[in-house]
Amino acid sequence: MQVRFLGAAQRVTGSMHFVQCGRFRVLLDCGLYQGKRSEAYDINHRFPFDPSQVDAVVLSHAHTDHSGNLPSLVRQGFRGKIYATSATRELAGTLLFDAAKIQESDLKYVNKHRRAKGEPELHLLYSQEDVVKTIRAFRVKDYEEPFEILPGLTVTFYDAGHMLGSAATRLHWAEDNVTLVYSGDIGRYEDPMLCSPAVVPDANYVIMEATYGDRLHRDDHDAGEQLETLCRETWQRGGSLLIPAFSIGRTQHIVYLLNQLAESGRLPPFKVFVDSPMAVDATEVYRTHVECFNEQFIQSILQEDDRDPLGFRDLHYVRSQEHSKAINRLDEPVIIISASGMLEGGRILHHLKQRIDDPKTTILFTGFQAQHTLGRRILEGAEFARLFGVEYPVHCRTARLESVSGHADQSELLRWLQAVNAAGQVRQVALTHCELEPAQVLAEKCQQAGLPPVIIPARDDVMNLEP
Ligand SMILES: [Zn+2]
Ligand SMILES: [Zn+2]
Repeated sequence: MQVRFLGAAQRVTGSMHFVQCGRFRVLLDCGLYQGKRSEAYDINHRFPFDPSQVDAVVLSHAHTDHSGNLPSLVRQGFRGKIYATSATRELAGTLLFDAAKIQESDLKYVNKHRRAKGEPELHLLYSQEDVVKTIRAFRVKDYEEPFEILPGLTVTFYDAGHMLGSAATRLHWAEDNVTLVYSGDIGRYEDPMLCSPAVVPDANYVIMEATYGDRLHRDDHDAGEQLETLCRETWQRGGSLLIPAFSIGRTQHIVYLLNQLAESGRLPPFKVFVDSPMAVDATEVYRTHVECFNEQFIQSILQEDDRDPLGFRDLHYVRSQEHSKAINRLDEPVIIISASGMLEGGRILHHLKQRIDDPKTTILFTGFQAQHTLGRRILEGAEFARLFGVEYPVHCRTARLESVSGHADQSELLRWLQAVNAAGQVRQVALTHCELEPAQVLAEKCQQAGLPPVIIPARDDVMNLEP
């Protein structure tokens, strides 16, 4: 058995690991690489293998950086099955259709300009038709129920607690009697909605994410209180709260916190809008997958009058563009949750344009703001922001709710690995899904904790799994 690291190796995006078991070839995730445009175009269009020769894909969860290039694989000849949990299939479907639609319309615009400049046209990564074929290839599996994907190769999913349906994957290759565990993305141990990451037994080799390998999160318990204070202050000023948030996961987490404040009478009488068609679809998927939630969360649903932890009287889900525009005509303070989370596109930009010069407005950042994004620039105190080609003065306030994270921090990553290695059978750990520095910090911590040897593979590196 052998693993070739083809993505998210010494970087965060584009997760993809190529596993060779005898004559079989399996991909663990097939994520979209997001980075500099020219580089991303090549990486996402060209697989360093023949997609028609891949026998199966095992998908850890729906996020774009793990699922976002699956339709390209199908477009370029992959004819096998894609294994995932049921929630992952539904969320990935929502996300991939959205991505294909945006690409189709963006490309028309970009190619019009390229033709005018005499430049060669760019090719579509995948169409909505490719997404249909991709969704048809999915086979849904439950947590902790082993299934054979190819003769002698048995896979088991374990709850990773990172987002609805997220899984850590255990692969056992009978011919060599060796077990590989792939963490996918690991969630937090005290998430208000999701279960804690499950223990994955009997690993010999581990591929583990290390996004926050060098960081400890603030205590999660005060997220609700922080949000309450911020809502009160903003209400007293007569201002509005803009919350840029990723449509799947982060949005539902924020809505749940607001729901708790509303149900206990601690939320000022704001009208609250979730303005994102994808978030509306994703929220429906959340509502139908009770099996993914923790016991405490299920109890709180059962005790609520309306039994809806993602809905309260003043909350409105917005799908249509007309309704979205109508929010900006309201003459009263509002809370708007909309994508994208780093202010790199999406409807949030229209709301920002309306309110960015209003000192009564607060932008509340809830997730990691990557370098070179508008979110990062505003957070770092930029005086002007460019929106739709026009410079606007930034007079609004900014705030951060850091503790709302979908990723384990350093101590939680160590805790997960210690549990995986409880029987002391792990021989090697490969750290992925992070920049080099956090990985090095975590590798040192692993060594201090007496954990098995750690490698930090670069793209195209190989790990041999000895029988
Ligand atoms: Zn993720
Ligand atoms: Zn990820």
